[in-house]
Amino acid sequence: MEVLLSKGAGFCFGVKRAVSLADEVLRRGKRPVYTLGPLIHNPQVIREFEEKGIKVVGNLDKVHPGTVILRSHGVAPSIQMEAKDKGFEIVDATCPRVKRVQQLAARLKKEGYQVVVIGERGHPEVASILELLRDADVIESFETIARLPKVKRIGVIAQTTQHMEHFKELCKLLISKAEEVRIYNTICEASITRQKNSLELAKGVDLMIVVGGYNSANTRRLTEICKAVAETHHIEEAAQIKEKWLKERERIGVTAGASTPISIINEVLRRLHFLAAHPTPKNQKNSPSRLRNSALYRIRSSP
Ligand code: SF4
Repeated sequence: MEVLLSKGAGFCFGVKRAVSLADEVLRRGKRPVYTLGPLIHNPQVIREFEEKGIKVVGNLDKVHPGTVILRSHGVAPSIQMEAKDKGFEIVDATCPRVKRVQQLAARLKKEGYQVVVIGERGHPEVASILELLRDADVIESFETIARLPKVKRIGVIAQTTQHMEHFKELCKLLISKAEEVRIYNTICEASITRQKNSLELAKGVDLMIVVGGYNSANTRRLTEICKAVAETHHIEEAAQIKEKWLKERERIGVTAGASTPISIINEVLRRLHFLAAHPTPKNQKNSPSRLRNSALYRIRSSP
């Protein structure tokens, strides 16, 4: 069995930056330290940070002032102001590309455009724009466009992790909704490349494994993209791989979301290689010791 890892799988620039800023805060030793919502969308990384002393909070209402790290997905300026007023030291880990989307949204609004965000309403990145511009419209699907009233000017931006083809299709429909439509393609280059590489890999394998948090929008998007061309499973960690998925598979592709650390990707690769080399004999169930052994197994040949 051959295991192939998609190019560029794992941490993107914005996530690397957020994680290294959080590490830096921990090194300085000042406490307490908080993040407003999870710093990135990966439960294992967040757990590790919590063990080291970074507490995830939903708001700053009932916490003692200290250092607050603004997560990679961004928060509204009003929340930053509130943190400042309450005496918190602010470490801004908002990805610069997310910040650019927030700035474009504000500029479009100022120039008289009705702002339309193509993205997921519940995603923190979109939520941060909505807190900034309460009357912005969020478009998740073709159906939501039908409900939009016709206006004079529309300014379109996208959540940075949207799928390019989906964005283009929705933009085509939005053109009929206003006399003037200004479109900014704000999908992050890192997302586009990751999606492209994963799709290419998925086309040439029997099975795709997508690794990343279930709460990670970009990981879910990768799963959707790969599912269109290959059997695909989204997992958060190596122990979730089921041996039955691998039966009679020659080539397995692995990709990972932008907030998946390399350590978790390596565990997945090790487990796949282990299962390929040591299939469970018939009638024997997978045991915890087998899972442990796979974690210790070293990859002999780089995929
Ligand atoms: S995917 Fe792009 S926009 Fe999102 S955090 Fe990473 S670099 Fe920033």
